[in-house]
Amino acid sequence: MSSEAVDHDAQVEAVREAFEREFGRFARFRAGEGAEGLSLGEAETLLRELAELRTRHTAKKSALAQLMKLIGRVPAEERAAFGQRVQVLNGEVTARLDEAQEALKAHVGRLKIERERLDVTLPGRRPRRGHLHPVTQLRQRIEDVFVSMGYAVEDGPEVETDFYNFTALNIPELHPARSPQDTFYTTDGLSLRSQTSTVQIHAMQRRRPPLRVVAPGRVFRRDTPDATHNPMFFQVEGLLVDRGINMGHLKGTLSEFVRRLFGAQTRTRFRPSYFPFTEPSMEADYSCFKCNGRGCRLCKGSGWIELGGSGMVHPNVLRAVEIDPEEFSGFAFGLGIDRMCGLMYELDDIRLLFENDVRFLEQF
Ligand SMILES: [Zn+2]
Repeated sequence: MSSEAVDHDAQVEAVREAFEREFGRFARFRAGEGAEGLSLGEAETLLRELAELRTRHTAKKSALAQLMKLIGRVPAEERAAFGQRVQVLNGEVTARLDEAQEALKAHVGRLKIERERLDVTLPGRRPRRGHLHPVTQLRQRIEDVFVSMGYAVEDGPEVETDFYNFTALNIPELHPARSPQDTFYTTDGLSLRSQTSTVQIHAMQRRRPPLRVVAPGRVFRRDTPDATHNPMFFQVEGLLVDRGINMGHLKGTLSEFVRRLFGAQTRTRFRPSYFPFTEPSMEADYSCFKCNGRGCRLCKGSGWIELGGSGMVHPNVLRAVEIDPEEFSGFAFGLGIDRMCGLMYELDDIRLLFENDVRFLEQF
């Protein structure tokens, strides 16, 4: 009896010792203590290892579980005492595992709260601010100048009917400007507008004279892209219709415009030209803003830079929108924004403006 009892006691002690050997490194974690100074990673690793240890020592096939099974098989007179020892051991093992686990879990919880707490003393991360495209910046400056001279800013569609893009602008059928070589046609006789002059017609239909409008926008031509051409570019159209308007008003307006844009020293000159929708027509030049007319690389040595086409509104254009050319007259002009932008920033290639390369655009 006694020899068997010793065997059983020894078995219980062996299981206890095996547990304590492995549990030794967790023994310091008690009642919420012992984990101070552990990093989050260290504490989480220990928790994982503790769970493995619990499985090894308490799961179905563990030595402790074997002892529990043994209780029913020891002789009846020893069963109570043996059973009690096994139960005590089981209670101790479970309690110590639970205690260490609680201490580690509490520490992990504290570290996580600390990590997620907002540190209001840290400098914030400022989102990178963009800015307006150089063509947009120049367009707005041009608009500002004309608005300060009493003009309203108009807008118009980029896809146009034959009437607005050609007929009403005194460009009859068979006129070379209608050539598919020059214009993008869509189906059903529509085309992408080849100049902002289309807005003249819309504006005169919407507002009756007297009127003063500028209309900045995209236009489209079937140009092969190169350093100075792009199939899409930006223009600003200007139109003024009133009683008694003459060439002097046009010259005064464009002269004042370039003075406000480039400075009071800027001079203008006008050359006769031809456009179907103006009569008479002229090209306007302004003295180079870089060399002030002395001649430089920018103005190709001439001292002058081309501003754009202009002229007195053709009577046929007024008639197309049922305005009496005997009562009203007006002038119109068109300026290329991106070409002007290219000159102002001395770009070698105008296509740079439309490649959307942020490294380039950031410079403006
Ligand atoms: Zn120059």
